[in-house]
Amino acid sequence: MGYKLSIQTPSAEEQLQFLHKIQRLLDEGQFTSTYKFALLIALADLSVEKSDGSGAEMVLNSREIAEKFIQLYWRQVIPFPVLKGEGGILFQNTDHQAAIINRITTDYSQTTCGLMSWMGNRAEYRKLVTDVAGTVRDMPLWRLQRIGNQIDDFLYENIGRGGEITLRSGVAYCMRQFHGQIISMVQGVWVQWIRKIRKNQKLLGQSTDLADFLFGSERNALSSYLPVLQDTQSNHCFYCKQEIKGSGEVDHFIPWSRYPVDLGHNFVLAHKSCNGSKGSVLADIPHLEHWQERNEQYGDALVDFFDDNGLVHDLPSSNAIVSWAYEQAEHAGAHLWSSRSCDLMVADHSWSQVVG
Ligand SMILES: [Zn+2]
Repeated sequence: MGYKLSIQTPSAEEQLQFLHKIQRLLDEGQFTSTYKFALLIALADLSVEKSDGSGAEMVLNSREIAEKFIQLYWRQVIPFPVLKGEGGILFQNTDHQAAIINRITTDYSQTTCGLMSWMGNRAEYRKLVTDVAGTVRDMPLWRLQRIGNQIDDFLYENIGRGGEITLRSGVAYCMRQFHGQIISMVQGVWVQWIRKIRKNQKLLGQSTDLADFLFGSERNALSSYLPVLQDTQSNHCFYCKQEIKGSGEVDHFIPWSRYPVDLGHNFVLAHKSCNGSKGSVLADIPHLEHWQERNEQYGDALVDFFDDNGLVHDLPSSNAIVSWAYEQAEHAGAHLWSSRSCDLMVADHSWSQVVG
């Protein structure tokens, strides 16, 4: 018959209701571990990285979700640092340590160069994903949407078994639309929850940097990207194109504050002053064009370098994140930064002609 279902984007009222339901899950849901928090963050990230921005349904499997769990928890199995004595791994479960933490700790203790290099260790990494995916299926996947005795499966049909879910129509759309808010809400509750666990209290004391410890900061290991960026940019600034004297700074093209996930293609080399001036604002359209050209022209060199150094990359995901970020800026009427002028431009729809 060849007719196509028309996909409707959720109305403003439905979007607001969606946010209320997420808030309700966090307020009233039962949490014996932090898995449900990790699951919500995974669904929000995957909605940005995999969906096309329409209101369509989206199928996700437990391995994709498990990879997001591993990225989230990998840094959290490091012993929490204390001033005196030995630190310890924070408890992520009310009575015993969470299985995923124990499983990741096993792999973590065998590597000295971080997750990215462990991912290059294909057989071991695949096994880790399989094990974590098993726990995701057994634990949070079919329990997330339960509040008390009730199930409100507004995110995906709660069939209760298997490793595949289909996000309902409009869910990926709302997750993309409110990504920043959802991540902040979930991280806030996660931090409070870790603090409340009695076994963590001795370790934590009065420390105020728990959120930074759990969820990282943009200063992580950016120097890994320096060699390939210096090479492909001939040590010139990505933004103002002038030579860089000294080493320059590795900049997140889409600022970390907007999307705190490190994928290789998001990095460029810039002057400290250009990087500082750009701050957490999106670069304007000519810079976006330059970013696309860079990825085309040096695609092979970048990918070879990322692979050789175990740095996570996925160009389709990076493009999806860029589209999402500029679309959000357009809808918000946000300003875009330019290295050529102090006048900030207002974002319009022209980004859509640039992103491949
Ligand atoms: Zn510059």
